[in-house]
Amino acid sequence: MKIENEEDLDNFVICRRCHTLHKVLPLHDGFKACCSECGALLYRFDSRLVEHGLAWSMTALLFFFVANFFPIVQIEVLGNTQFVTIPMMLEALFEQEFYIVGFVCLFIVFLFPLGTFVIYGVLFLLLFFQKGERSIGKLLVLLSHLKPWNMVDIFLVSILVSLVKLIGYAQIHIGTSFWALVLFVLVDIYINKTLHLSEIWILQKVRFKKEIE
Ligand SMILES: [Zn+2]
Repeated sequence: MKIENEEDLDNFVICRRCHTLHKVLPLHDGFKACCSECGALLYRFDSRLVEHGLAWSMTALLFFFVANFFPIVQIEVLGNTQFVTIPMMLEALFEQEFYIVGFVCLFIVFLFPLGTFVIYGVLFLLLFFQKGERSIGKLLVLLSHLKPWNMVDIFLVSILVSLVKLIGYAQIHIGTSFWALVLFVLVDIYINKTLHLSEIWILQKVRFKKEIE
């Protein structure tokens, strides 16, 4: 295979499992392309991807806002009741002068997940209205950098571990945000497993009527 310039790279796809280079071929709606060497999925073409992606992004953002602005848990110790929300947890870290931990948590628990789904939302809106071809490319690159830093699932596991440790010392009532956080993590995992950035890239080329040869 001969690649003469950077533009030609758009016509090729690398297998994520065995790293074999394949030429991208146009697919019919609902069909998928698999690697000839190892059989791994390379890309699919789903014409309803934009509508589905937009709906999932909005759902994730809705769960994210509920998870952040309502109590995660209500802790009762010796008659004193304390509500805990995610912003309160971050604020407490800064008040206790754990600045490094505070900034790391602020980014991986709040800013990166929020940024990821805002970008997904903007991407699918641009694709839906068929506008901003150049911006879509830049947003996809930014998204590929942000996605690995979204660690809300690890944060949820750490909350569960803390709650188990507190059970013997205090009465714990699970709040609305906890369930919203669980649903957000499930949507996040689902989107990461089913929605590959290469598929959005290919869809962008189809929507803007570029021919894939
Ligand atoms: Zn392969």
